Amino acid sequence: MRQEISITVTDKAKAEFQRGFPLITKEALEDVEGLATEGAILELNDRQGRFLAKGYYGKQNKGYGWVLTRNKDEAINQAFIERTLKEAFGHRQGFFDDPSTTAFRLFNGEGDGFGGLTIDYYDGFYLLSWYSEGVYTFKDEVISALQNVADCRGIYQKKRFDTKGQYIEEDDFVAGERGEFPLIVKENGINFAVYLNDGAMTGIFLDQRDVRNALKEKYARGKTVLNTFSYTGAFSVAAAIGGAAKTTSVDLAKRSNSKTIEQFSVNGIDYESQDILVMDVFNYFKYAKRKELKFDVVVLDPPSFARSKKYTFSTSKDYTNLMKEAIAITEQKGLIVASTNSASFGMKKFKGFIEKAFKEEGRKYRIVEEFTLPADFRVRKEFKEGDYLKVLFVSLD
Ligand code: SAH
Repeated sequence: MRQEISITVTDKAKAEFQRGFPLITKEALEDVEGLATEGAILELNDRQGRFLAKGYYGKQNKGYGWVLTRNKDEAINQAFIERTLKEAFGHRQGFFDDPSTTAFRLFNGEGDGFGGLTIDYYDGFYLLSWYSEGVYTFKDEVISALQNVADCRGIYQKKRFDTKGQYIEEDDFVAGERGEFPLIVKENGINFAVYLNDGAMTGIFLDQRDVRNALKEKYARGKTVLNTFSYTGAFSVAAAIGGAAKTTSVDLAKRSNSKTIEQFSVNGIDYESQDILVMDVFNYFKYAKRKELKFDVVVLDPPSFARSKKYTFSTSKDYTNLMKEAIAITEQKGLIVASTNSASFGMKKFKGFIEKAFKEEGRKYRIVEEFTLPADFRVRKEFKEGDYLKVLFVSLD
């Protein structure tokens, strides 16, 4: 039996839970002493002992767990998870019906009613990501529920909760049939090679789908495109398919070279006609300035935090400088696609970084497109913080 713990929340948190706030933060709890067993059901009560909500205990970087229901009589069991999953499937029907896109997020944590768990769909295969030991205790129920609700070819998982917040190496296969990797999925007609069994990342970040599509459809034709922090080159592939004159992909990781070659190749693009560079982006900026290289379009999509041999980069401290480096190597009337997935600040602050960079450079600009998470990455209106993605298409005057 799953342990159930009654716990008292502060008056301030009470109002938030009543409004539908889903995250159980440490500050919300009057007393965290009884909290020991990950996965325990938490009954949240106000200081007068009145029921507010029910959730589970699962410690992750964001908090102590997630609210699952505000109905006292609703049991948290496989049937609950099945109902939650069914609803999530309903919201993605449009994606299932679209043969040009076969990879998308099926279940987005608290946005779909169960924080700490995401499920991505990759052409018949399902990839579960668990963000705490607590949510992982629901594994058997989630898998049975998923198999009851969907026709799964195979199920894989990523445990994203070891003590350092790092991925733990292990066999990711869970149930059904094993896939053959790379699995080729489609996104708006573009092929992507993905691996569900190879470390923390699959080869594609599904949350950038709309951004890649905009680049391909509206901004790439005839242009030179520099893709920094390029990983497997997904933006480069989208640009090339959109008719870019040439793409240049820059990433520090050695693997990015073969991974990028692979993404071009599965789309029938001759990778030798593109530039793929394994190097530090900050060194590349210096090199490009020295060689007086300029690009029509520059994509900036750094990780929230990165450390290389020479440089440490933290989005919230260094985005303005990164932007200034990009401005220096972008053509007049060119475009910078400025992206960040940092959850530690919102769109307003992000726009402030851009504003500051242009001001310091004495240049003018216009924001021509703005993206946050796409529709399949559902976000609750009571928890806007869940929408971590911010992308601005910035046109230089
Ligand atoms: N833009 C990519 C995702 C980027 S993931 C996409 O849409 O698919 C972040 C990438 O930044 C990783 O591949 C990592 O190797 C790379 N990276 C981190 N620090 C870097 C640096 N200083 N120079 C170049 N690449 C770096």
